[in-house]
Amino acid sequence: MLAQAPNPAVAAAQAAAEAERQAGGRTAGTKFRALVRYANSLSMETLTLRPIHPQQVVIRNQAAQTCYTTTAALNTANAAMNAQIAGHGGVGVVLEVGSQVKRVQVGDQVIMAITPNCGACANCLNGRGDICAMFGRPVIATATMADGAPVFTSPPAGPSGLSEILVAWEEFVVPVFTKVPPAELSLLSCVSATGLGLAMCRFPVEAGSDVAVFGLGPVGMSAVQGARIQGAKNIVGIDPIKYRRDLALKLGATAVIDPNVDKGNDLIAKAQAMMADVVPPGRFFVGQRRNDGGGFGGGRGAMYVLEAVGGTRFPLPAGVEAPLDMTGAEALQQAYTLTRGGGYLRTSGVGQPMGTTVTFPAGGWSNSSKTHVPGNYAGVQALRDLPRFVRLIEKGLFDAKSMIGQTFPGDRMREALQIAADRSQITSVALFDA
Ligand SMILES: [Zn+2]
Ligand SMILES: [Zn+2]
Repeated sequence: MLAQAPNPAVAAAQAAAEAERQAGGRTAGTKFRALVRYANSLSMETLTLRPIHPQQVVIRNQAAQTCYTTTAALNTANAAMNAQIAGHGGVGVVLEVGSQVKRVQVGDQVIMAITPNCGACANCLNGRGDICAMFGRPVIATATMADGAPVFTSPPAGPSGLSEILVAWEEFVVPVFTKVPPAELSLLSCVSATGLGLAMCRFPVEAGSDVAVFGLGPVGMSAVQGARIQGAKNIVGIDPIKYRRDLALKLGATAVIDPNVDKGNDLIAKAQAMMADVVPPGRFFVGQRRNDGGGFGGGRGAMYVLEAVGGTRFPLPAGVEAPLDMTGAEALQQAYTLTRGGGYLRTSGVGQPMGTTVTFPAGGWSNSSKTHVPGNYAGVQALRDLPRFVRLIEKGLFDAKSMIGQTFPGDRMREALQIAADRSQITSVALFDA
């Protein structure tokens, strides 16, 4: 078989880019500490920064959140093929920009989002920056281990965050100009942006409507706040963990349900009762309310059901209530059932729940009128939405401060990640000297 001839123009461009990369930027050779998953370990390592690509940005990290997705790095039973820095985004100050970078300058404070938003690909042009084609960037090692092994970000073409230095493709960074503390901003790189997106992006909650939120972790807790900001009437939060239900009541939920107490259809009936308007005796319906749940589902259930459950990878420590169903599948099924006729089910997980199949029945008037909206990053377009989410913090509408569970110094990033796995705090944030 003949080898495919390289395109000379592409090869020349690649050679030019590589030559510039080799020539090195100002930060190449910098030593920094990072939480690295390698072979069968997850440990703090001192790494050496490599020269960046002309379209990359180097950031001195100020703060990085943890999220449940990244806790997968704690499972070191299976050997990792390549060294990878753990984490899902961060916030920091730009140290160096590649020669082709336009979006930010040295000295800018930026949020590094988990999802790019180039503004120029077909998906971005169609208003779907949450599925920006720049997810498909080439995989380039950003640093070197002490033994010379190349180190990649995680996922390889995108972010990491649990690291003193961040290297990002231009499309992943959003400049912000604000006095909001870095710890609070860091939540917007992944968990809180996702939660706000469930309530505010693509199919935003309409004022005066009823909302149910399954899962009151950092994503669901932010969705509760988003629903409050949008002006929802009833906001019912559902989670087995008591301190999370209590916090939800403080941050916007009008009622909460413990799914370990009210199970199966009992949970559905209880939530429906919490959202029902009183229909005067003898009247069939009033406005959008109907008292028997017939037809297109009548007034039974929430117009918007926001799912932020996912699955549970690790046993939870004493004092943190574990879900009855570790896969998260039952909650997803309940979420569908609780969506009223004509309503919207927003699910936040990509590939969640784990290892299970959930069936959304299509039959019947009620089911056929429901809209399921899955998707990445809950429809958030980082370049458009992160600055407005920052403004929501500035105006006191999104309470990010109450979402900071525990902070850790940068040399204790693994403990921060463990907190996320244990669900023992609403969030954990690593703070760096910057
Ligand atoms: Zn794009
Ligand atoms: Zn994440």
